[in-house]
Amino acid sequence: MGTCIFCSIIAGHQAASVVYEDAIVCAFLDINPVNPGHVLVVPKTHLPCVADMDEVVGGHLFKVSMRLDRTLRRSGLRCDGVNLFLADGVEAGQEVPHVHIHVIPRFKGDVFRIEADWSARPSRPELDHYAEQLRHAYETMSNSLHDD
Ligand code: 5GP
Ligand code: ZN
Repeated sequence: MGTCIFCSIIAGHQAASVVYEDAIVCAFLDINPVNPGHVLVVPKTHLPCVADMDEVVGGHLFKVSMRLDRTLRRSGLRCDGVNLFLADGVEAGQEVPHVHIHVIPRFKGDVFRIEADWSARPSRPELDHYAEQLRHAYETMSNSLHDD
C-alpha cells in the first residue's frame, strides 16, 4: 500500500509523533488536530473500512482508544471530555482510507462541531419499523459471520 499515508507512518517512512504502539495498532498525533492531544489509533494492517477489519483487531483498536481516553484526562493537557470518532466511508467524512479512531480531547468553548439537523423526532411506529428492519439485517449479518 505504497500510497497510503498511514501505512507510510507505520512503516517508519513518514514522520509521526507516536503516543503508543504494539503489534496490532499504532497511535500517533493528528497532523491537523481539533485540539492539542488529538490522537489517531490505527491498525497496523491496511484496512480501508470497518467491514474489512477482524473483530479481534477492532476490539483491540477500541481498547487502546479507551485507554487513550483515560490517558488524555490524566495527561495535564486540557481535557474535560473526550470524543471517540470513526468516519467509515467517504460519505461519512472519511478522508484517509485506512481505518482509524480519532480520540479527541474536548473542553468547553472549543471549536469541534458535528453539523446535523437534530430536530427530527420520528413517531414510535416509525422507530419500531426501522428497529425491526435492523434486527432482521443484524441477524442475517451475524449468521453470515457464523457467530452470535
Ligand atoms: P478522517 O477524515 O479520514 O476521519 O481523518 C483523517 C485524519 O488524518 C485527519 O484528521 C487528518 O488531519 C489526519 N491526517 C492526514 N494526513 C496525515 C498525516 O500525514 N499525518 C498525520 N499524523 N495525520 C494525518
Ligand atoms: Zn494504509
